[in-house]
Amino acid sequence: MKKGLLIVVSAPSGCGKGTILGEILKEPNYYYSVSATTRQPREGEEDGVHYRFLQREQFEALIKDGAFIEHAEYCQNYYGTLQAPIEENRALGRNVILEIEVQGAMQIRKTCPDAVFIFIAPPSIETLRERLMNRGTETAEVIAERVAQAERETECAKDYDYVIINDVLETAISDFKAIVRAEECKTKNN
Ligand code: 5GP
Repeated sequence: MKKGLLIVVSAPSGCGKGTILGEILKEPNYYYSVSATTRQPREGEEDGVHYRFLQREQFEALIKDGAFIEHAEYCQNYYGTLQAPIEENRALGRNVILEIEVQGAMQIRKTCPDAVFIFIAPPSIETLRERLMNRGTETAEVIAERVAQAERETECAKDYDYVIINDVLETAISDFKAIVRAEECKTKNN
């Protein structure tokens, strides 16, 4: 069986990556890697669906056990990708999507040279600030911190294989599908 792709997606928060990935994941043959985190669940988030919500001590024990393919500290919380499900699902021919921030993505770049790296960028920082404010899930202080973080992260887009500007949602979704199809057709993947 043909091995699935490992697709690493990064985007500053508020870039609409959740909406894009939601559409992509409606297609068959994808596996979304549920990360572990020490941040508090937001309203509507479920343990095991959006994240595995852990205490700091639990997370640190998993780091010690080598359970993560990558992990990073972001806005005072730990986030990490558990290794086991990734290879299992790729071996079953599923395209595995990791939705992670840039430090984690660059760790994967070193350990999984066959991964595909996609950066989703907002049309502008101003649009991003507005989207975060409209989402209404964070305080003004957290929004300011995330906007500053987004500016720093966008500098890293150049280290990715592909950049998708999420201005018009439908275009961003079709760009994503086109990238995946092109990767699937690459000679080295056949
Ligand atoms: P949020 O708190 O908004 O859900 O996520 C904050 C950031 O952490 C986002 O950029 C998200 O992509 C990233 N993130 C989520 N899961 C992981 C993970 O497993 N590893 C790393 N390195 N970053 C993650």
